[in-house]
Amino acid sequence: MGTILGVFGFTITHLIYLLSLMGIERYTSQNSPKIENQSHLERIVKIEIEKMGLKDKNIKVKLSNDRGIKSNATQFKDNHYEIILSPPHNDLGVLRHELYHIADGHFLTEKEIKEIGIFEGIIYKFGYIYYREPKAAIYAFKNLER
Ligand SMILES: [Zn+2]
Repeated sequence: MGTILGVFGFTITHLIYLLSLMGIERYTSQNSPKIENQSHLERIVKIEIEKMGLKDKNIKVKLSNDRGIKSNATQFKDNHYEIILSPPHNDLGVLRHELYHIADGHFLTEKEIKEIGIFEGIIYKFGYIYYREPKAAIYAFKNLER
């Protein structure tokens, strides 16, 4: 019985946590200025890169019209990144969120990806949900109105 209650309590807590995280991300996105086109995006990203001290990173940005693509950042080789923004999340808040993942070193290096074990891989995924994702969400949220 104790175990069932424990699992139930954990599930509820986890659900509340995930909903809060999604709520913060949604609120930030909805209250951020929209980025309307590619040249607008390139202008804005320059300012943000300067502010966040990311000038030594190679960051490509792309505005997509494909609603099927979720806005995201990927690392395609060490120190090279691509951020794609797509509607409805083509806004400054989401751009800052993705830049934060780069600035705070949330990507594994190519060497680390090759060498990661199953257990470390699981820990890394947990770290995304409970540490890296909320950090990025809070950064973007705190920078609203700036
Ligand atoms: Zn994120």
